[in-house]
Amino acid sequence: MSDVAQIRRELDAAGIATLTFDRAGSSANVFDRATLEELDAHLKFLAAASGLRGVVLASAKPAIFIAGADLHAFSPAPEESVLAALVEYGQGVFSRLAALPVPTVAAIHGACLGGGCELALACDWRVASNGKATRIGLPETQLGIVPAWGGCTRLPALIGLPAALKLILGGKPVVGIQALKLGLVDDLAPPEYVLAAARTLLGRGRRLKPPGRLLHCPPLPALIAAKSRKLVLARTRGHYPAPLRAIDVCVRALGRPVETGLALERTALLELSRTPACRNLLGLFMLQERAKKITLPELSDLTSAPVRRVAVIGAGVMGSGIAQWLAARGLSVLLQDIDAKALAGGLHRIEALVQGGLRRRLFTPAEAAATLDRVSPILPDVPLTECDLVIEAAVERLDLKQKIFRDLESRTRAETVLATNTSALSIDALAGELAHPGRVVGLHFFNPVHRMKLLEVVRGVRTSPATLAAALDFAKAIGKLPVIARDQPGFLVNRVLMPAMGEAVRLFTEGHQAETIDRHLLAFGLPMGPLRLADEVGLDVALHVQKDLAERLPNFVQPDGTLEKMTAKGWLGRKSGCGFYLHGPGRQTKPNPAAAEFQSGHAPTGDGASMTDRVILPMINEAARCLELNVVDAPEDVDFAMVLGTGWAPFRGGPLRHADALGVPKVVRRLEELAQEVSPNFAPCEHLRQMAAHGRTFYPAPP
Ligand code: NAD
Repeated sequence: MSDVAQIRRELDAAGIATLTFDRAGSSANVFDRATLEELDAHLKFLAAASGLRGVVLASAKPAIFIAGADLHAFSPAPEESVLAALVEYGQGVFSRLAALPVPTVAAIHGACLGGGCELALACDWRVASNGKATRIGLPETQLGIVPAWGGCTRLPALIGLPAALKLILGGKPVVGIQALKLGLVDDLAPPEYVLAAARTLLGRGRRLKPPGRLLHCPPLPALIAAKSRKLVLARTRGHYPAPLRAIDVCVRALGRPVETGLALERTALLELSRTPACRNLLGLFMLQERAKKITLPELSDLTSAPVRRVAVIGAGVMGSGIAQWLAARGLSVLLQDIDAKALAGGLHRIEALVQGGLRRRLFTPAEAAATLDRVSPILPDVPLTECDLVIEAAVERLDLKQKIFRDLESRTRAETVLATNTSALSIDALAGELAHPGRVVGLHFFNPVHRMKLLEVVRGVRTSPATLAAALDFAKAIGKLPVIARDQPGFLVNRVLMPAMGEAVRLFTEGHQAETIDRHLLAFGLPMGPLRLADEVGLDVALHVQKDLAERLPNFVQPDGTLEKMTAKGWLGRKSGCGFYLHGPGRQTKPNPAAAEFQSGHAPTGDGASMTDRVILPMINEAARCLELNVVDAPEDVDFAMVLGTGWAPFRGGPLRHADALGVPKVVRRLEELAQEVSPNFAPCEHLRQMAAHGRTFYPAPP
């Protein structure tokens, strides 16, 4: 047990004990071995206490009940025997809680996730606050494991198999009112009354064993399991073993003694912990934690004032998305556009986003109204001296953006940070004509802003350390996950992504069907086929970025002419209704037979594996080149940014993890073959060659 107490125990005159979780020196409560041991000691004490009438479990943290198990215990992966002992011990502690002879209740306010939720499930009763911070769920399958401290066993028994599977397989937490509807909690109360409501629930005594559910009688569980497996396989294409294993455990535990369910959970967790998918998903979780704290040695002494008021220049897709995100986080936003209609359109999009958040209960009506109130449209000559930061999100043209920056210099205070959301233009070129170019930095948000967590923070050669520090602090303060990239064409994510799109277009031109190419890449694990992605991004935009990168980067492949011909015909992808696919209302999409006119007419060669290699390996090559040229500092930056910025096969851990898994020499050999057979553009970069020659990997091999 640790010397510092993590849990306070109070016993009042009425015989009610309250165990309050309050992890020292942290804003979160998590379960590590020491906390479990401490809880165990309290439970042993309470089991023997005389005059005890009930136990309340609560948290002293303002926004967290218990966030789950301490995942640092899994990184680096512990010895299997250590993991097995931890799982078994946690199960034992929670079973001791469930076996207390007095009623128990979890008073939940804030995040109640994973092990925290399983603790609550081991209580007789649960009350949740209706506060926004309260989110209850079991996200384990997102990390490649299953809930194994009783979650797969106790949740289906409490709320029924279908609802439990939905929570466990989706991994998404629910808010208080949803938890009440599901029967996951027994009462709902405002945050300040949760403790009082918990004590009231104790008056119900111990919970009686629930009557059997019709849905749990054979053959229904098997049918529910079969349907769930089908849905999971359609969503994951079989790449994620954890949800399938969770279905199996939940169904087999149903109606059996709790100990049987716990044993099934243990076996499943240990098996899953050995899978590459689990290691990669946990690794990505750690990279997200790393991003929350990322800084540079030269910035360690710098502090930046909090940003309260931001001006966004350009109210298009990105400008309005950024403005909404910032306003929802309490910042005042001034929104400017050169075109009054575009400004009105931007405000309309912001309102639609807020309404969407309201429907999904992300905001209360009062918060939604306050968010909208924080956005003020302004005219182009309004002074911006009150702004701490300006984010430029106007159209992607260097001369236009340079003009905007000159104008901003005269309208802002000298210390105001000037950021650009450019996708690929040079930060240094944008800052070039300013008196203080050190104020300029790239803040490259991804589309749609409210969904994509990644923010590329781009440092120009002249970006000052103070500006960079302010940009990083801002990224973290608004809940985005930053990656620091240097000012090179395409920065990191677009530079690595574009060769894949270019190669997919070439495969199409050679005669492969768009849906065949996309199907193979979906099967690989990309979230969307590259040609469908080109249609979604806009073929004109994809062409512009590819041409721009090909002009500025010596090794970058020229587009093959197909996009040029398609855009000349007015085929711009989804926005024109036509591209590689035909796009109907909503998300309806079907193959575009007329696109055949842009194909060679020859019978194409190459199977699915070679198509996949031709699209994926250039990304690895370009990612390695980015490391060689110091676009980013570490393989972790590449993998984190590609997964968070493009959804790149999370179970593979990112392009460079994947390269290690394939073996760098094999990647180099295959690229050399493709360079011979298809095009010299595939030639592996010097960095990859050197790595292969010296037997190096991107990541150290696990011990
Ligand atoms: P958009 O065409 O939707 O919006 C651009 C807006 O800028 C328009 O409303 C236009 O009227 C306005 N504008 C033009 N000149 C202006 C000026 N002088 N002052 C103020 N406003 C002006 O474009 P978008 O997709 O929102 O892209 C904006 C920027 O974000 C570009 O640099 C783009 O490369 C970048 N970006 C786009 C995406 C994306 O997926 N769309 C993703 C990341 C970054």
